[in-house]
Amino acid sequence: MKVIGLTGGIGSGKSTVSALLEGRGAKVIDADEVARCVVEPGKPALEAIAAHFGSAVVDEAGRLDRAKLSEIVFGDRDELHFLNSVTHPAVAAEILDRLSGLEKSDPDALVFLAVPLLVETGGAKRYPLDATVVVDVAPDIAIARLIRSRPMSIDQAKARIGAQASRADRLKAADFVIDNSGTYANLESEVDRLFEAIEAQYL
Ligand code: ADP
Repeated sequence: MKVIGLTGGIGSGKSTVSALLEGRGAKVIDADEVARCVVEPGKPALEAIAAHFGSAVVDEAGRLDRAKLSEIVFGDRDELHFLNSVTHPAVAAEILDRLSGLEKSDPDALVFLAVPLLVETGGAKRYPLDATVVVDVAPDIAIARLIRSRPMSIDQAKARIGAQASRADRLKAADFVIDNSGTYANLESEVDRLFEAIEAQYL
């Protein structure tokens, strides 16, 4: 089994690339989905969050109220640090668990681990990655796509991009780069090119 990290800034096209990779038979573990899974009702991470932040962050159905929690941690380094100290280890443990499950069930799998903040959180050290792929796009293109597809203003999109690693720092961590500055058809060719490169180098 090969495990390839997949990252990129917000709006770079990670989710779009993940779908194309799955369409070509690769497995994708999505860290955002794992992050939602570890705070489901009954999970220890949700209990730790509710114990610290109070029941206001849990809705009537016992689910985490993400908007409330974001309001509390936004701009408060200590609270954000606490939240990360609960969620990051839980996410890492669940990802490692899923990887070892795949290793047993599908030892020949090509697995992409999609982690938005892979570079920022030193994820390359935390996970057994054979390589890292960065989806790259100029910030102005990412902003234009984000404001078209999400309920986000230009300023919000700029702020989100500004809070992440710079394009240059992310590219330094890349073994492969997917250029998503073109059309969707161009992106499909980029994914085909990635598959060929990975096959030649790792499979
Ligand atoms: P990420 O997961 O990195 O935040 P997404 O895959 O959600 O980014 O892409 C952001 C938005 O841009 C989505 O609406 C997506 O459909 C769109 N998008 C991605 N790639 C392209 C492309 N090559 N051309 C046009 N729109 C694109």
